[in-house]
Amino acid sequence: MKFMNAVLAMSAAAAVSMVFAPAMAQTYPERNITMVIPFSAGGPTDTVGRLVAESMSKDLGQQIIVENVGGAGGTLGAGRVAQADPDGYTILLHHIGMATSATLYRKLAYDTLNAFEYVGLVTDVPMTIVARKDFEPADLKSLVEYVKANKDTVTVANAGIGAASHLCGMMFMSAVETPLTTVPYKGTGPAMTDLLGGQVDIMCDQTTNTTKQIQGGTIKAYAVTSPARLDVLPDVPTAIEGGLADFQVGIWHGVYAPKGTPAEAIERLSKSLQVALKDPNVIARFAELGTVPSPESDATPAALKAKLESEIARWKTVIEAAGQYAD
Ligand code: ASP
Repeated sequence: MKFMNAVLAMSAAAAVSMVFAPAMAQTYPERNITMVIPFSAGGPTDTVGRLVAESMSKDLGQQIIVENVGGAGGTLGAGRVAQADPDGYTILLHHIGMATSATLYRKLAYDTLNAFEYVGLVTDVPMTIVARKDFEPADLKSLVEYVKANKDTVTVANAGIGAASHLCGMMFMSAVETPLTTVPYKGTGPAMTDLLGGQVDIMCDQTTNTTKQIQGGTIKAYAVTSPARLDVLPDVPTAIEGGLADFQVGIWHGVYAPKGTPAEAIERLSKSLQVALKDPNVIARFAELGTVPSPESDATPAALKAKLESEIARWKTVIEAAGQYAD
């Protein structure tokens, strides 16, 4: 419970020098770039990644091809990129799990702070607490009563230890002081399929995966984890409104490349990310999914590096205090 309480308590929301190398600067990129998404296709990270990749491809004049490498809360995909050739042709789009897994996984195959170059922050996505359509409780208050009374049978889907759905699910169990059975997937894309099919009961997932389903009435929504209600889900109360004190969480995303990727490539990718985040199509699609692009000043190597460092430190304190690890 100590971990869960600590997680709940933490639930609020260097400059990299660039050496100009004319040869590469003029020619990069000369071929397709692979963007690894460390979760399954069709999930929230995949949705964000594909939208950004499509827009960046136009700016770069070369295709960014998305490759989904799900498993172990995103650490398999991150590990793949850490070991890839640092030539500018393999990049990673990951979320807050990049920071939490640095402590949660004591035997990580890569050194999080030293294995990557930073391209920039992408977006900060709210979460939603949702359930299968026919799940009995009508609102958040009844959900809390229901899970307390049925703790041996209620199941919670997540995308593995360190995933956003895992962290948010832990926060929920902490808030209601009731441990529940968790069901891990390689991403919340397949978890959503099972939620729609009624094979699992509840899930805490990014709005980028749940908004359309909530709007379509195919799943039941209990709360959003943002400080205020979202324009796209005006009838869904915030978790705080619904009675879960301090229950706020946002899932920030960043783009990385393997350590040693030439500075000119990083600079070009970062500029392209900034262009993508101002693309009216990306802005509109993000808005439909309940989120907004990061400002240009955050879509930079320095801002992502600072964010990752501070988030690793923040979650290290929480996780170590709890003494709970993935291995
Ligand atoms: N964002 C993950 C996905 O895309 C899920 C998670 O972090 O919970 O599937």
